[in-house]
Amino acid sequence: MNQNHVIWHNGFVSRADRNNLNNHISGLVWFTGLSASGKSTIAHLVEKELFGKGILTYVLDGDNVRHGINSNLGFGPEDRKENLRRIAEISKLFVDAGILTLAAFISPCKEDREYIRKRFDGDNFLEIYVKCSIEECEKRDPKGQYKKARAGIIKNYTGISAPYEEPENPDIILNTDEIDIETSVHKVMELLDSRKFILFR
Ligand code: ADP
Repeated sequence: MNQNHVIWHNGFVSRADRNNLNNHISGLVWFTGLSASGKSTIAHLVEKELFGKGILTYVLDGDNVRHGINSNLGFGPEDRKENLRRIAEISKLFVDAGILTLAAFISPCKEDREYIRKRFDGDNFLEIYVKCSIEECEKRDPKGQYKKARAGIIKNYTGISAPYEEPENPDIILNTDEIDIETSVHKVMELLDSRKFILFR
């Protein structure tokens, strides 16, 4: 589509203004890892803690996004890429709107994650690797999807019939087959604190 005549319009209220109003900064915290590794569980509990501290926050969750804006996308490589491109753009809008955004997506391809990191250009972006062995994830299988993937009912399933490329340099690794949910939540809160994400001005 020709975008030549589409011109960005700057409003009167900036992200900095919104951050000042809210008394906290906005940014994107990206959770990556195998299905059932614990991304959603941890992100939603972090959201609850942040909200309790008076911080505007929101979880963008893989399954929910695929029910709505990305319901027309599948799980082949091209659709996965487009899925993440849209999520990156939605995240940008949320962060611009002043929200501390938590994104829980398998995001198995290094290249796609790099794209998101670049799109944020080091701008209040953190990557969290929720690391869990495939054996443990399969044992948990909260939605019965691993069983279906093993039976070939679900194709291109990450960890079974599609690859997961581990992050090389995440801001933190949560080994969820070794640590409990509360410990992970605590570690994320500590990380956000140390990186001044929850610094009140
Ligand atoms: P994902 O978002 O990565 O697909 P979910 O959070 O939806 O994963 O599911 C993870 C499941 O594993 C949840 O049912 C959660 O209660 C369970 N679980 C068990 N032990 C842990 C742990 N140590 N850390 C995170 N989740 C755990």
